[in-house]
Amino acid sequence: MTDITEKQVLERLAKVRGPDLEGDIVALKMVSGLLIDGGKVIFSINVPAERAEELEPLRNAAEQSVMKLAGVEKVIAVLTGERKAGSAPVRPAPSFDQAAAVPPPMQMQAAKAAADAPNQKAGVPGIKSIIAVASGKGGVGKSTTSVNIALGLLGQGLKVGILDADIYGPSLPRLLGISDRPTANGRILNPLESFGLKVMSMGFLVEEETPMIWRGPMVISALTQMLREVAWGELDVLIVDMPPGTGDAQLTMAQQVPLAGAVIVSTPQDIALIDARKGLNMFRKVEVPILGLIENMSTFICPKCGEQSDIFGHGGARKEAESLGVPFLGEIPLHMDIRSNSDGGTPVTVSAPDGPHAAIYNDIAEKVIDRLHAEGDNAGPKIVME
Ligand code: ADP
Repeated sequence: MTDITEKQVLERLAKVRGPDLEGDIVALKMVSGLLIDGGKVIFSINVPAERAEELEPLRNAAEQSVMKLAGVEKVIAVLTGERKAGSAPVRPAPSFDQAAAVPPPMQMQAAKAAADAPNQKAGVPGIKSIIAVASGKGGVGKSTTSVNIALGLLGQGLKVGILDADIYGPSLPRLLGISDRPTANGRILNPLESFGLKVMSMGFLVEEETPMIWRGPMVISALTQMLREVAWGELDVLIVDMPPGTGDAQLTMAQQVPLAGAVIVSTPQDIALIDARKGLNMFRKVEVPILGLIENMSTFICPKCGEQSDIFGHGGARKEAESLGVPFLGEIPLHMDIRSNSDGGTPVTVSAPDGPHAAIYNDIAEKVIDRLHAEGDNAGPKIVME
């Protein structure tokens, strides 16, 4: 097979019209950072940041055009955003470089990591088990549950880390009261620590208000970096707080991360349960064991009188778990203390470790570990409790 040349690729790209169908993207000098690696071709297309969403078809057309070249197996085009003076910085490709603009070689490295992604399911050295916490939709309390389960596991004497893979709306900095930025050792970032947990979140690296343009390959490269280019050290369990939903990005993540198992969080409403079912199916599709289902905001407990009301109905997740043949891990009530403590940066398992809510989270954490053991070799190395 003859090597693919830069000239051939540029010839293909010259067939792609520029924005508003004027000129072509090569003549307009929009293409940069061309990298050819065997059958893989990676390049970036520089566009005005504010038009990035709208120019997605252009990116796609460029990929398709290069794909037609003989010998090309994979093409990754990354849209990079040009910043207008005075506007918010755009991070076109995720990178652990903390400057506002990402130098092209870093983007290319990230894209290349994404291109190589199918081989990335190898374990992460030092981490015994990785567990995903997922939900079919947002706002069901997935992150709050992730944090409190992680703390429950810590309470059992395990070494625990938590990775905020919810790159679209990272919430761990808020839930764990972290406002520091991580330090780096070359390319490797040091995780932050909060209440004994090791924590990494995209929220540490970008300003909350920073618009992010995420394309499929970037999501994967961001996740790969947060997983593999962080000095996690020795961990018994790494909890991955997944982005909500069951779209392609989630499916790819579930595929790319060497997961020992997944926990699904749902509220009792039927609609949420339907979403939860989608979540279950997603993990089943990629053969990740389901450790169980959790019903969050299960019953409402009045903070004044302690009376219990089943606002959203109650017990739906338990029934659903039974009918789907997956374990039910527990019910967490809808309670003001859970909300106010979480959103205040002190999870309820820390602010009231002997309270009823901490007891529920601890119980769920114990069941998660039992399930990991039960999954045995399929779920990765066993955790030995000392
Ligand atoms: P998700 O990660 O699913 O988007 P979050 O964990 O960010 O959801 O929770 C959404 C909101 O609901 C937050 O304000 C959180 O404090 C609150 N919340 C989560 N679980 C409970 C609960 N059991 N009781 C009361 N509030 C809760």
